[in-house]
Amino acid sequence: MDQPFIPNTMPAQTLTAAPADLLQSSLEEMLRTLPPKDKYKNAPDEDYGDVHGDVLGGLLLGPTGAAYLFLQMSARHPELQLLGHDALYWARKYMEGDRGMPAVEDGCCGLVAEKLAFEAASADSDPGRVQFCHGAPGFTHALQSLRPYYPALQDQIDRAIEKGYGISWTNGLLKKEPNLCHGLFGNGLAFPKGPRREHFLALATPDAVANRKRQDPTLFKAHNYGIDLSVLLGYWPSAAWAWSVYEEDEPRIFLFNDI
Ligand SMILES: [Zn+2]
Repeated sequence: MDQPFIPNTMPAQTLTAAPADLLQSSLEEMLRTLPPKDKYKNAPDEDYGDVHGDVLGGLLLGPTGAAYLFLQMSARHPELQLLGHDALYWARKYMEGDRGMPAVEDGCCGLVAEKLAFEAASADSDPGRVQFCHGAPGFTHALQSLRPYYPALQDQIDRAIEKGYGISWTNGLLKKEPNLCHGLFGNGLAFPKGPRREHFLALATPDAVANRKRQDPTLFKAHNYGIDLSVLLGYWPSAAWAWSVYEEDEPRIFLFNDI
């Protein structure tokens, strides 16, 4: 298998736009490309392939997760105006569409998605994975959240976090399209505020991604199972979350430790 990451030997990358502007444009691009709809359908049983924003999938994919993102945005950035409305307006819009009669189905509750679970369970066979959903960046995020509750273990936790940073730095510039779950956004947010985080996220801006793709068309292909309207998997919603928390000391990950 090809190396799944870009060797991190380039000079330190810096942002060329303000995080607030990147947040604004990510959310507006999400609203333009994946707008709230009048009617949604239930997720297909077997394959999520090619579902462009009109399939229901709890908080993981579809309009309800999008509504939750905009609710979070309205709490975090009450001043935001997006295409002429505040974030709460858009949260309501994503909640309005006709959902038919949603039912709890076997094996399809909460955040559970078979494909992701399968991928995570298969991770042992692929030690090259360095990403939030399985790998060092995910452990770093988890350990940072747990650390305050285990005072006696803080030295060990700090050593583990440092180790995580090292692995993420060397092997974490993933070639997959940036998102929170398995890409530059989630990996970059695992670093402390400062140059390492900036290096990763500077490579994940729309301009940086387009530039790299021009140089090497194999880079940054979508790995989102066709699910664009997902805060963990889709580029624009993931970008919005990442820019929203970019300047925080310990940024949280949506649906993982965000409340
Ligand atoms: Zn993932």
